[in-house]
Amino acid sequence: MRTTQLYAPTLRETPAEAEVVSQKLMLRAGMIRKAAGGVYTYLPLAWRTLRKIEQIVREEMDAAGGQEILMPILQPSEIWKETGRWAVYGEEMFRLNDRHEREFCLGPTHEEMVTALVRDEVRSYKQLPLMLYQIQNKYRDEIRPRFGLMRGREFIMKDLYSFDKDEAGLEVSYKKMFDAYTRVFTRCGLKFRPVEADNGAIGGAHSHEFTVLADSGESNIVYCTKCDYAASDEKAELKTIVAEKEEPLELEKVSTPGTKTIELVADYLKVSVEKTIKAVAFQNEKDELVLAFMRGDHDVNEVKLQNAVGAIALRMADEEAITAAGGQPGFMSPIGIKKGTKIVVDATVMDMYNAVAGANEKDMHFIHVNPKRDFKDVMVCDIRLVKDGDPCPHCGAPLKMTRGIEAGQVFTLGTKYSKPLGATFLDENGKEKPLVMGSYGIGVSRTMAAAIEQNNDKDGIIWPRAIAPYEVIVVPVNAKVKEQLDMAEKVYETLKKEHIDVVLDDRKERAGVKFKDADLIGYPLRITIGPKTLESGIIEAKIRRTGEVKNLTKENYVEGVKEILDTL
Ligand code: ATP
Ligand code: MG
Repeated sequence: MRTTQLYAPTLRETPAEAEVVSQKLMLRAGMIRKAAGGVYTYLPLAWRTLRKIEQIVREEMDAAGGQEILMPILQPSEIWKETGRWAVYGEEMFRLNDRHEREFCLGPTHEEMVTALVRDEVRSYKQLPLMLYQIQNKYRDEIRPRFGLMRGREFIMKDLYSFDKDEAGLEVSYKKMFDAYTRVFTRCGLKFRPVEADNGAIGGAHSHEFTVLADSGESNIVYCTKCDYAASDEKAELKTIVAEKEEPLELEKVSTPGTKTIELVADYLKVSVEKTIKAVAFQNEKDELVLAFMRGDHDVNEVKLQNAVGAIALRMADEEAITAAGGQPGFMSPIGIKKGTKIVVDATVMDMYNAVAGANEKDMHFIHVNPKRDFKDVMVCDIRLVKDGDPCPHCGAPLKMTRGIEAGQVFTLGTKYSKPLGATFLDENGKEKPLVMGSYGIGVSRTMAAAIEQNNDKDGIIWPRAIAPYEVIVVPVNAKVKEQLDMAEKVYETLKKEHIDVVLDDRKERAGVKFKDADLIGYPLRITIGPKTLESGIIEAKIRRTGEVKNLTKENYVEGVKEILDTL
């Protein structure tokens, strides 16, 4: 490819719409253009990278036993109604009607579709295990499409579904996919961590997210500084903190004027925040009140809470809902709340002694609260949000928090979809059983964006070689000098014959402009042909990531380029 022909309209200025660095750099490097919020066109450079990522994904899925298919994006509502997700999926699903008023959606995921597919063909245990996958566009009307390709409304996903005859088979398939994902992200040249994840709306027994490490990531993850435990903050389990035992004193109501926050009340009563209990009030999708109680210095993990009460969604409660249940915003405790209200108390709170909690009256608190004695009709479980330094649930060493981008997720589904859709098979004894399933997704377009979030500097993108749109750019310092351009042409043709993805910058631009564009687009290696080459046969090779320059010669540059590329 020659830059005079390459359709990569670079921009000097950063477009105002760009919120994150990957979006900024892809727009500036002429890789993507926005069509609508969360909907983008991929220009040639982006498409080359996406195809390289897809190829790695494809090879690893095939090697793990997957078979590629292509299911329709347009999906009939019937199968979604059979599993109940037509109602549950909500506004994130793009829905449309055909001319006969039949309902369809644009596939946000394909569990229903693939299960309906195999239920008609898979009859016997002899046809199992089976792994089917596809790579195609997915559609989700995200509340906040943002950050360019990171959270699009149309995006590319690889989704694989496994079908086994039993749980043991599923474990094998899950492990195969876990290993395949590890190879995919390793081969893409990314720093990543598989972390234990919440199963979310899909449900099922367990799940891992493959998180590309980047400070700009939306996912908070924790990892143990000693053992190999790693989890998303939503999932991270926490052991109960047992407070030092005290003799329970008699419950007492005291006046605490104006102490609406936990810090104010702790200050007023001269106790540490660790001695206080705070409330966080939510309402579920049915508008029912859900009250969570935490130690004053702890935060509630909404995902754990949601799972604990079996809610589909939680939002902050309205004041009316709180008062209707006998609560007083800012001064709440489970004591005095109407019977039947959903109250969840964090396990750590139950092991506190003589604590401070609200009295459900304005400007009043209880002191000497002993939850084991005083809290009635409450559900107790771990609903605490992990923070830096919390002890590892496996080995007790301090956990560290870091940020990342969820690029892939693997789930065990069990029979969640096969049962309602009636996807069964006959086992060895001729008994009819539901298929045991798993589902495994990789965000291909998000992986490209994540690669840039992790690999960039002030000058532009730094592609890992495996997913760079082109591996090498050959730049004649002055393309107006015929000998330089001829030499550059020769090097370009030679490298091309060696199956290296190479670009020739044949523009009659100043060297500075060409170097700037090369850095912006992020070719892993830049070969410069200048006066030195003509005088003494030196060919300069500059590594984008390190800035290191190696002097190759007219005689050995092919080997030299290959050797350098192997390290990138
Ligand atoms: P998130 O929590 O970020 O919304 P998700 O958990 O809903 O994602 P999955 O259903 O697990 O996503 O989809 C599999 C993969 O598809 C994700 O790991 C991610 O890489 C990608 N993906 C999901 N939503 C989007 C999106 N809106 N834009 C781009 N990629 C996405
Ligand atoms: Mg996910």
